[in-house]
Amino acid sequence: MKLKLFSEWVALFLVLVMCLSCTKNKKNQEENHEDNFKKQDKNEVKDTYFGEFNADSAYFFLEKQVSFGPRVPNTPAHNLCGAYLVSTLSRFADKVYEQKSTVTAYNGSLLPLHNIIGVFNPTHKRRILLTAHWDSRHITDQDNDKSKAVLGANDGASGVAVLLEIARLLKKYPIQNIGIDILLNDAEDYGAPDDYKPEKEDTYCLGSQYWAKNPHIKDYTAEYAIVLDMVGGKNATFYREQLSDEVARALVDKIWNKAAQLGYGIYFLNEKGTAVIDDHLYIHKIANIPAIDIIDHNPSRPRGFPEYWHTQRDDLSNIDKNTLKAVGTVVYSVLREM
Ligand SMILES: [Zn+2]
Repeated sequence: MKLKLFSEWVALFLVLVMCLSCTKNKKNQEENHEDNFKKQDKNEVKDTYFGEFNADSAYFFLEKQVSFGPRVPNTPAHNLCGAYLVSTLSRFADKVYEQKSTVTAYNGSLLPLHNIIGVFNPTHKRRILLTAHWDSRHITDQDNDKSKAVLGANDGASGVAVLLEIARLLKKYPIQNIGIDILLNDAEDYGAPDDYKPEKEDTYCLGSQYWAKNPHIKDYTAEYAIVLDMVGGKNATFYREQLSDEVARALVDKIWNKAAQLGYGIYFLNEKGTAVIDDHLYIHKIANIPAIDIIDHNPSRPRGFPEYWHTQRDDLSNIDKNTLKAVGTVVYSVLREM
């Protein structure tokens, strides 16, 4: 009787503690991102001195971007998200540069360009550039109704989310032997639709093209650049993109081998993929930096990209934390081993 009563008290106490910590956690999530994930980090450091890529934290960054709505240049959502990214990256990086300019889109629209660059270890000669686009597409041109803007949970927010989580880890566990630059590039996805006449070239990747011509530091160069694009989708597949394999095979080998070693071979298929037009193309062509693209593109799909690509369905329902975890862990591990 006594024992039963005692165990009931213990159970009641535990339920109360759980409720309390639940509410507290919820409050923290809104108030302070750092506090919210501090506890998880503490557990993780036991195994490794440089922490572990936290998919919950990355998802938080992803959800936050999506909460602004489509981040299309010339919209309030784009302005607000840009400000959020500057303030977030400033919490983690040693220095943050902003590039503001105006570029002309394929249809003559003038776009206010806002590239954001977070620099870690600014004085180190040996540098790696990590980049993802933070804008989302102005039209749903793969839908029957092409008039909407793309929410870009995967195509836009996912790459940035993974990079912000890596930035958070770099602040906490600084890397000594390399310098890292995180470029959140703008106006990647304002390119001409396939059927646009007259046909125009190089209408995508306006932010990375601008950066490659006007790097944030004069004569900037890096050993490699890594582009992350659509890295949060369910059942994502990352093939060895063709140009990446041509210009930076050693790095592609390193990343795909690391993925296999960590048990993420189901995402990173060590097979030849097709060529994709993305930021890595211009970073290589204009800035002459060997650049690779980690992108959810599968030669066996009709358009290569996930079926919701450039439609109204690129929303949170297609995001999988396991994919964010796989990509983040692989890239972060490779950086730590450089
Ligand atoms: Zn896109």
